[in-house]
Amino acid sequence: MGLNTDSANPPTRLGVFGGAFDPPHHAHVALARAAIAQFDLDALHVIPTGQAWHKARALSAPEHRLAMTRLAFDGMQAVRVDARELQRAGPTFTIDTLKALQVENPGCQLYLFIGTDQFAAFKQWHKWDEILEIAIICIAGRSKFALTQSQFDVYAPHNHRFFILQLPLMPVSATQIRQMFAASKAAALEAGHLVPEAVARYISQHQLYGAG
Ligand code: ATP
Repeated sequence: MGLNTDSANPPTRLGVFGGAFDPPHHAHVALARAAIAQFDLDALHVIPTGQAWHKARALSAPEHRLAMTRLAFDGMQAVRVDARELQRAGPTFTIDTLKALQVENPGCQLYLFIGTDQFAAFKQWHKWDEILEIAIICIAGRSKFALTQSQFDVYAPHNHRFFILQLPLMPVSATQIRQMFAASKAAALEAGHLVPEAVARYISQHQLYGAG
């Protein structure tokens, strides 16, 4: 499907930001804000993933991750928390979600947002070449995954499909947050500051991650 080039009727600019969101944290929210602003998005679909084929760890129940994602992005007008991958049986692939969004929004331009950890493994994504054909990939830096030119060169001649999302490095990760909630009451209190307040409340109400 080609780009809609009618300048009087520009294409809808649709962002896609997927993740386990187990739990959603401040860096996810900052990334979403930067994405909407920098790429002038009409909407950003925030999509909690099903049990991803490439993540060995069992994720928290879909209803908890969906509820926390809704709380984390509450109040951001352009964000659509999109539960479609949680409702899909079997493995979920980004390419299928992107194609579905394209059908629902004819002529739209898709922007896919990922951190550098995901970009490092992008060649292992199902149908990565088809993803590159239909979406522009926007990459956010993560402290432990520096970007190198050679990482882009392997995608030639499609390397012009990658852009950098301007975002200060934020060393937070969901893994670290889960570990802190499990470690002790003091560490759990500290972890509560790494997620939106309503998410911290939800985690302790539902005693997720061993939080007491
Ligand atoms: P985990 O530690 O469980 O792997 P995570 O913190 O990486 O979780 P995910 O829900 O897996 O969180 O991430 C969703 C998306 O957000 C991914 O593309 C990931 O690269 C990106 N992301 C997560 N944390 C950051 C961060 N601190 N800075 C930039 N991007 C991030």
